[in-house]
Order: sequence, then structure tokens, then C-alpha cells
Amino acid sequence: MKEYDVVVIGAGPGGYVAAIRCAQLGLKTACVDQWLGPDGKPSLGGTCLNVGCIPSKALLDSSHHYHNLQHLFPAHGIEVKSASIDVAKMQQRKDKVVQTLTRGVAGLLKKNKIDAFQGHGRLLEGRRVEVSPHGSGDKETLKAKNIIIATGSAPVQIPVAKIDGDRVVDNEGALAFSEVPKRLGVIGAGVIGLELGSVWNRLGSEVVILEALKDFLATADRDIAKEAQRTFKKQKLDIRLGAKVIAAKAGKTGVKVSFEDKGGEQSIDVDKLVVAVGRRAFTDELDPEAAGVKVDNQGRIEVDGQCRTAAEGIWAIGDVVRGPMLAHKASEEGIAVAELVAGQSAHIDHQLVPWVIYTHPEVAWVGKTEVELSDEGVEFRKGSFPYRAIGRAQGAGETDGLVKILADKKSDQILGVHIFGAQASELIAEAVTAMAFHASSEDLARTIHAHPTLSEAIHEAALAVDGRTIHL
Ligand code: FAD
Ligand code: NAD
Repeated sequence: MKEYDVVVIGAGPGGYVAAIRCAQLGLKTACVDQWLGPDGKPSLGGTCLNVGCIPSKALLDSSHHYHNLQHLFPAHGIEVKSASIDVAKMQQRKDKVVQTLTRGVAGLLKKNKIDAFQGHGRLLEGRRVEVSPHGSGDKETLKAKNIIIATGSAPVQIPVAKIDGDRVVDNEGALAFSEVPKRLGVIGAGVIGLELGSVWNRLGSEVVILEALKDFLATADRDIAKEAQRTFKKQKLDIRLGAKVIAAKAGKTGVKVSFEDKGGEQSIDVDKLVVAVGRRAFTDELDPEAAGVKVDNQGRIEVDGQCRTAAEGIWAIGDVVRGPMLAHKASEEGIAVAELVAGQSAHIDHQLVPWVIYTHPEVAWVGKTEVELSDEGVEFRKGSFPYRAIGRAQGAGETDGLVKILADKKSDQILGVHIFGAQASELIAEAVTAMAFHASSEDLARTIHAHPTLSEAIHEAALAVDGRTIHL
């Protein structure tokens, strides 16, 4: 039986990053992963690299270029007659991006002398992992001083709209359409629904998104959500709130989706239907209980603030545990656990995990919303600033959006930063850094921001907290 200091189960952004950090710290490390790519060959990187963050952003960029060509370039005096989209070529490019990065992960594991096992990992008692390899190879048992569970998540399925992989698809199918659906239905106006709905909308689909909740982007700041909803409407994303799907019947030519909303029972006919109603922790055939690991009532592996499970020496990170299902959160937990295993101290600040929704413009935030602060009885001041008053935004034709900063009324410490606007995913990093150093809004207001840049919207929003914006 092979013995390791650490065996990691799962090679997504949680698992592979944890494995690399363990190896850097001198721990003898193995990583077990079962993902197979479309060619049937092992493909490391988990959901994020194979069917999540990376392919969705590759398509997002393709669709953005196509959209700009038709709608933004003419204003610059650039006319392209009869623009067309070659979906097969766009998908090939996306597949190549995925392949480059998944192979890159394999290379990183090798370079760090991590033993990579390709196959299914199952927990056994006594801190052992049974590996069932793909194909006809023999099962193998690995013994470890520490095990890190990083098995990720899978799409939630709903009985009224069963995935058939053809007409009714999940994120994986929606990333692989071979042509632009004329009419596309999406169930769920969450992150995946909005991002993939935007991709196909920009390529020419008529997109209808059915969302069960009455509030749009219920967890986001209310002003940001309102502005985003207004902008998406302008983009002709048809988002129906308070819509409860009753049935989805797939036929030869399309899918009839029946739903109830305030207007009563109605239906839409679409060519494809994407189900994006959330994700669940993935522990299928992992057998956590066999190793003394507890699972909570939502199927997630139970952990403490430092990702320890109920079983000594077994840790769990990423989508399979509580907290937001985000790649960077998974990776940071992976690094922290590796350092704890190596006897170092490590800290994960779950309050400072940034959120980004990659629509156009993007939505990004870190920290608390106004509603959360009010519910907690925290007194705060706020400042916001619109993109339209920023010179760089005008020059780029990116005038939709705003930045909003919330700061403690007494100490002025920044408690939340909320952005809807171009490059929000990049701009939010400044806010995360400021908050990590417990900065005040006055600190940001006194920080020099280059002109002309979109980051000036953060500067002006910080000035606005104290009622002293310059450009409004
Ligand atoms: P995963 O990435 O799911 O990896 C788990 C790995 O473990 C998989 O390879 C799986 O096959 C393997 N595994 C599971 N069980 C076993 C077993 N028993 N034995 C062996 N191997 C096993 N997040 C962002 O931060 N930014 C984004 O832009 C973003 N975009 C997304 C877009 C889409 C369409 C989707 C679906 C998700 C997106 N996410 C994004 C979420 C992100 O993908 C996840 O938060 C992230 O992948 C979680 O990492 P993980 O390591 O916990 O799990
Ligand atoms: P989500 O939780 O973001 O959104 C699901 C939406 O579906 C919610 O608004 C919910 O109210 C709605 N819903 C649930 N059941 C419904 C029903 N029966 N009918 C109509 N609406 C229903 O989930 P998601 O979009 O599937 O994404 C899953 C997770 O993946 C995200 O929460 C996020 O953690 C991760 N992700 C992140 C990114 C990113 O960071 N940019 C991108 C994609 C996915």
C-alpha cells in the first residue's frame, strides 16, 4: 500500500491548488481525480476548467466581440458588412483554451512531484483512499496521514425539467451548442443563467429567463440589482421574475415550457432549455461516513472554520463544503489547509470573498450589502458614483453602471463595495485589498488613482461617502 503525507481527492481549483501547496511545503502528496474530457481522456482542473469558469469566459469573450462588431464599432466609424459567426470555430477555440489549461494543471502536478491517480476515490476507515482507475486497471489503496476532500459540486436537477443532454441541458450542454438556438429558455436568473443567457443573447438568440424569486439578484445590493436589471432589459434579455416552472416537454422541434407567474399559467416555446437552478455538493460514492466524516442536511461535508471535518486528519474544501461555490474560495481554502497540515498557522477570511457575475457590464462585490448591515443593526454611510461621469467610461462607450461604497458610520472602515459596470471584475480587487487592510473610505479617497481610468469611479465613490465628489 502506497503511503503519503497527504492524499487529495479531486483536482479542481480546490484540490490541485491544495496539492501543489502541500508539495511546496515538503509533504509527500497524491491527487486522485475522476474527470474525463470529451475525448474520454483524463482532464484535470475540475468543473472550473472543464465546464465552468474557463469555457464560459472563453465564449463570453467571443460573443462580446461579435456583439461589439455589430453594435459598438459603428459608433467608432468602423463598419463591417455582413458579419457572421462560425459557432464550430468558436467552440474549437474554447476547447483549445480548456485543453491548454487542463494540460497545464497536469504539468504543474508533475513539476511538483505529486503522484496523480486517475480514477474514482472512495474513503475507507483508517485514513485510506481506495482508487478505482478508469478502464480495466486494478483498484489500489492509498494510506495517508491527511486526506483533503475537494470533490466539488454538480448541477441541481429539477423533476419538472429533466436534463436530456439535447433539448434540455445543464451548464455543460449550454457551453457546447453547435449552433445558435433561435429561441433559448433558461430556468434560473442566477449566475449561470445570466452569464450563459448573455452569451447566446449576444450571438443572436431570443433569450427568456424564468426565475422563481420575485427579486432580481436577491443576494446583490439592491441599487446594483436594479441598475443591472434595467441594463439587461435594454439588451433584450427577457427576465420573468416570480415564474414557477410547472413542466417542460421536449419534442422533435423544441421544448414547451409551462410556468405560472402573476399573469397566471402560460407557456413559451424554445429550441433549447438550460436548467441553471443552483449546484449541490458532490459526494456521490465517496462514502464519507465510512471514514467518520459528517455530512450536513444539505449534503455538504461538515467542516469548522478551518476546514476540519469530524474525522481527525481529514479536511474538506471548496464547493463540497459551506460557503460560496467559487473557484477562488476553493483555492484559498486549499492553500490554508495545506499550511495547517504542515503545522503552520493559516487564516481564511470568508468575509472577503469577492463575487463576480460576468455579464456585460459585469457585477462585482465584496463585503456586506445595505440590507445585511441594516439587519445586523450596523450604522453606515454610503457613497456612490455613476460610470457616466467618468471620462474613460465615456471614451470607451461604457457608461452604464455605478460604484457604491458602504463604510462604518463611526470608524469609517469600509464594510462593502458594490460595482455594476465595465471591468468590475478587475476593479473589485482594489476593494478587496483595501478591506483586507481594514482601510477606511477616507484611505481610498486619499489614494491617487490614475486618470483617465475606470478606477476613478472607486475614488469618486469613496469621496462620495463624505459628500465631496468632484465630478458630479
Ligand atoms: P470542482 O472544480 O468541482 O472539482 C472537483 C473535482 O473532483 C472534479 O474534477 C471531480 O471530477 C472530482 N471528483 C469528485 N468526486 C471524486 C471522487 N470521489 N474521486 C475522484 N475525483 C472526484 N467560479 C468562479 O469563481 N468564477 C467563475 O467565473 C465561475 N464560473 C462558473 C461557470 C459555470 C458554468 C459553473 C458551472 C461554475 C462556475 N464557477 C465559477 C464555480 C467554480 O467552477 C467552482 O466553484 C469550482 O470549480 C469549485 O472547485 P472545487 O475544487 O471545489 O470543485
Ligand atoms: P444560482 O444559485 O446562482 O442561481 C440559481 C437561480 O435559480 C436562483 O436565482 C434561484 O432562485 C433560481 N431557481 C431555483 N429553482 C428554480 C426553479 N425551480 N425555477 C426557477 N428558478 C429557480 O445557481 P447557478 O446559476 O446554477 O450557479 C451555481 C453556482 O455556480 C453559483 O451559485 C456560483 O456559486 C457558481 N458560479 C459562479 C460563477 C461566477 O463566479 N461568475 C459563474 C457560474 C457559476
